[in-house]
Amino acid sequence: MMNKIKTHYRACNVCEATCGLEIKYQDNKILSIKGDKKDPLSKGHICPKGVALQDIYYDPDRLKQPVKKTQDGWQKISWNQAFDEVTNKIKSIQKQHGNDAVAIYSGNPTVHNMGAMLFMPMFSRLLRTKNRYSATSVDQLADQLAAYLLFGHQLLVPVPDLDRTDCLLIIGANPVVSNGSMMTAPKVAQRLKDIRKRGGKVINVDPRFTETSKIADQHIYINPAADVYLLLAMLHVVFEKQYDNLRHVKEFTHDIQDIKNLVKPYTPASVAEITGIEAQTIEDLVDTFCQSKSACCYPRFGASTQKFGTLTQWLGNVLNIVTGNFDRAGGVMFAKPALDILAPAKNKFKKVFGKNHSRLKGLPSFAGELPVSVLADEILTEGEGQIKMLITNSGNPVISTPNGNKMDKALQSLDYMVAVDFYVNESSRHANIILPPTSALERSHYNMAFHTLAVQNTAKYTEPLFDSEKNQRSDMQIFVELWSRLQPGGLKNKFKTWMTKRVIYKNGEAGIIDAGLKKGPYPDLNLAKVIASKHGIDLGALQPCMPERLFTIDQQIHLMPEEIKADIGRLEDNFINDKPDSEFNMQLIGRRDPRTNNSWMHNSHRMVKGKQRCVAIVNNQDAEKHDLKNGDSIKVTSKIGEITLPVSVSQEIKPGIISIPHGWGHVFDDIQLSIAKKHAGVNINILMDENSMDELSGNAVLSGVPVNIQKE
Ligand code: SF4
Repeated sequence: MMNKIKTHYRACNVCEATCGLEIKYQDNKILSIKGDKKDPLSKGHICPKGVALQDIYYDPDRLKQPVKKTQDGWQKISWNQAFDEVTNKIKSIQKQHGNDAVAIYSGNPTVHNMGAMLFMPMFSRLLRTKNRYSATSVDQLADQLAAYLLFGHQLLVPVPDLDRTDCLLIIGANPVVSNGSMMTAPKVAQRLKDIRKRGGKVINVDPRFTETSKIADQHIYINPAADVYLLLAMLHVVFEKQYDNLRHVKEFTHDIQDIKNLVKPYTPASVAEITGIEAQTIEDLVDTFCQSKSACCYPRFGASTQKFGTLTQWLGNVLNIVTGNFDRAGGVMFAKPALDILAPAKNKFKKVFGKNHSRLKGLPSFAGELPVSVLADEILTEGEGQIKMLITNSGNPVISTPNGNKMDKALQSLDYMVAVDFYVNESSRHANIILPPTSALERSHYNMAFHTLAVQNTAKYTEPLFDSEKNQRSDMQIFVELWSRLQPGGLKNKFKTWMTKRVIYKNGEAGIIDAGLKKGPYPDLNLAKVIASKHGIDLGALQPCMPERLFTIDQQIHLMPEEIKADIGRLEDNFINDKPDSEFNMQLIGRRDPRTNNSWMHNSHRMVKGKQRCVAIVNNQDAEKHDLKNGDSIKVTSKIGEITLPVSVSQEIKPGIISIPHGWGHVFDDIQLSIAKKHAGVNINILMDENSMDELSGNAVLSGVPVNIQKE
């Protein structure tokens, strides 16, 4: 006899949009997943990935118990054995080779997972290794470094006040597909349409006419990696036409003359060639931006993953500040999260840039991490400090980081590898032991990171939809257990405290969330109230918060930080000497697909069905030059590798540019992803040179990569 149909409400934790979901289920069977119309932030929005959460839950390929690699293949082992073996290995390798011999890599899902967010850092700190890496340095590291240098904290990334702005200038982002990047804005397409409906403008700057361009007022084609010069020229025009007006920010902002001096030579005419944008278009763009009642410049992923990523992100912020579009309604603002992950820092500046350096290249650490581009060499290069063991958490560096082939070789060469992952994927196949955590629907969730980047203040807590099986472990349980076994004497010794005894064992993550909400900026808010609200609580629009929210030493904004100043010479030199690479005839840019969440959701049938998604887009002129038509195979060759994939011919992309999506390449026989294998695609990161990066931040360069194409 079946129980009656029930409804479960939760926040989707797949991407930054954190959409509210309404799930109808009966016993253990999901009947439907729809957008929750009463969710105050997402108002009913859902994308195919939210629906596919059920495929992950039911996936027969998903591991639920630890497995160990043996000569006879993967063998199930008990959690106790797995924890023992892993912690013994950590201890023995660190004893023999030093703490840095054990490295840790976190994939993007870590930040969407409350248990991992709360407890993995605690475990990671205990390793006392400088070799900590994450997907941040193939994504938004430059954005966060610019925020740290200007506002004193790497998480103080301003977000567009999307629902009130009169002009949104998008650079290197495709929010209609990504659903917002470093900006939590579900239903983003509607939010952009609403800007236009209220008489505002949406302008998209990109080498490709993207899904976002289709709903914008204007699309401006730009050469890859030239955004920094566009912004310099825009600022030149701002000062020339005396559009600069810092408003209330003037009281605590410095170095404006330094900015004026810097941008003086960069007239729109002078950057026309390097950007591929006519001078008049830049002049008009500045007029539109500055004559709007309010405006936001929003540079994101594509603007970070280029050789001047940090300078580009910094100039985007400077443009917002000097045009009076910072910290006011309709400009870029900061959220006031109910659980403020910045609160423990108490507005005190903490130096987090350059505290450590990578062994071989001497690259600076940022926020406790080294750039992942150096990871493969740190594993493969012998000598003191060489990485011998790697622990990955929800990460797939073979697919997600530059020079995928080298990373594959590096993982194979490790003395020992542990993957906290519920799939045997392209990277975890190299592990000695895999520790699989529960899936999203078996966990409770509070989005700790993305309320800080939201375009509207809300709070929502999600309880598990289904109980996990007796033998499963959550991320919290995995990291707490590893942590406690590494501590001499276990938990009892050091942490007989409120945190461990009451919070972890009695209330789990919920206790921490409750405590955080009670200490937060909204009086009388607590977890019970948030849970009772079911759909989430609306805490209102973004509010000005400057200079109180600043984390800089003197609570002032210095527009020309020393680290930026030191990088200007490189920019100027590039402006004079930059020449197209004569060896290569095209430039490669990435692309995101609405049914792809980086590398990990292709084992869902509904994510891969239909048309082939891993295709290269080239312009009609290039197609003609190379005798290509839709569906033909092309070989794409870079300095470090080559891949072959089908081509799609389109006028949506600038001539001379080729676009390939990331997250594909499920080609290895020994991965256990039965559906993904049938729709393997190719790994774009085989083409990406790990030595090419934004020199200031160490962010990988993934835009404007020189390649050749050839019909196969
Ligand atoms: S947009 Fe993101 S948060 Fe919303 S349903 Fe899709 S994957 Fe989930």
